[in-house]
Amino acid sequence: MGESVIPLQDLRRGKPLPPMLNAAPPTGHLADALGRPLRDLRISVTDRCNFRCSYCMPKEVFDKTHAFLPHSALLSFEEITRCARLFVAHGVHKLRLTGGEPLLRKNLETLIALLAELRTPSGHALDITLTTNGSVLARKAQALKDAGLKRVTVSLDALDDGIFRRMNDVDFPVADVLRGIEEAQRVGLAPIKVNMVVKRGTNDQEIVPMARHFRHSGVVLRFIEYMDVGATNGWRMDEVLPSAQVVQQLSQAHALEPIEANELGETAARWRYADGGGEVGVISSVTQAFCRDCNRARLSTEGRLYLCLFATGGHDLRALLRGGAGDEQLSAAIAAIWGERDDRYSELRGAMSPDAGGGAKRVEMHYIGG
Ligand code: SAM
Ligand code: SF4
Ligand code: SF4
Repeated sequence: MGESVIPLQDLRRGKPLPPMLNAAPPTGHLADALGRPLRDLRISVTDRCNFRCSYCMPKEVFDKTHAFLPHSALLSFEEITRCARLFVAHGVHKLRLTGGEPLLRKNLETLIALLAELRTPSGHALDITLTTNGSVLARKAQALKDAGLKRVTVSLDALDDGIFRRMNDVDFPVADVLRGIEEAQRVGLAPIKVNMVVKRGTNDQEIVPMARHFRHSGVVLRFIEYMDVGATNGWRMDEVLPSAQVVQQLSQAHALEPIEANELGETAARWRYADGGGEVGVISSVTQAFCRDCNRARLSTEGRLYLCLFATGGHDLRALLRGGAGDEQLSAAIAAIWGERDDRYSELRGAMSPDAGGGAKRVEMHYIGG
């Protein structure tokens, strides 16, 4: 493979990369500046979406005049797979496809099939999953499963049709998402998780009905605190319902017991129904930061590497990919970037002014995925 040397200075906002760039071999044991390993890669495959959830892509901002990325800017399936392979050599064992709405990317099954062929350094298959709004899942579940997808997470913010239609802001019905979940269950994309973003005053009355609906179904329902991602959703702290209050509401309806985390870096705190009705989770990114074990990297639709959901800038891997960098060079760049990572936004949020980040705009959620 050609190893043409290209200028890398622009990779990190003008700072030249350290000399180790051309030396670091993939070890599977990278640690960032705070000692955190790299285990989870979230890949955004499109910045487009057919929903306009007010907390993510408010209609007023993402209207007909909004310029989405042209197709040529998107990483191709081959480019994504090449990056993923190098991340896997550095210790990633979980890949999550996201967006925008990932199921809008044409022929996504082809990408899944390519990713499904990758193996960890110890020869294990990867945990490949996908987060979707479920709008076209009923139609695509079988093909996704056949291509090698292991499981899915479906976002659903309410069972009440009126509330859900208002929250997705494109009048999309609950019934179609529920059909998608059922089909995903039928084809074995399990365990299925359902994500509900809780906004105080908007859908908090749906917490118990959602729990009741998914009890005894095998689906793991997770309640996510409404987050201050991006710069367009008009986030206010008083619209965040702390997870502690979610758990309190749930336990008044059904007795709950805490359970251990499955693995280090897990975002959700897990609970189970004492009567064996299954499991729920709460993701408290606002009230209880979990940066200490955060082992997630995010690859944007156009190939920028983000080290935190709240980052204001990403590292341009596409420039390397398209500039002729060889695997060794790319791999060393990933190692160097991760090695300097010291992001822990949620831990610092309380101490920051509202325009933290030096006034720079935080990246939008639909661009790097959840
Ligand atoms: N379109 C897909 C979907 O909605 O599942 C994938 C992308 S979406 C950005 C990924 C996840 O981020 C979804 O579960 C969504 O609910 C969540 N999300 C988006 N904006 C959020 C916010 N402001 N606070 C908390 N979660 C958010
Ligand atoms: Fe689309 Fe998902 Fe964002 Fe909703 S949360 S607007 S479905 S990308
Ligand atoms: Fe990870 Fe950043 Fe979220 Fe902290 S704020 S858990 S570092 S993504």
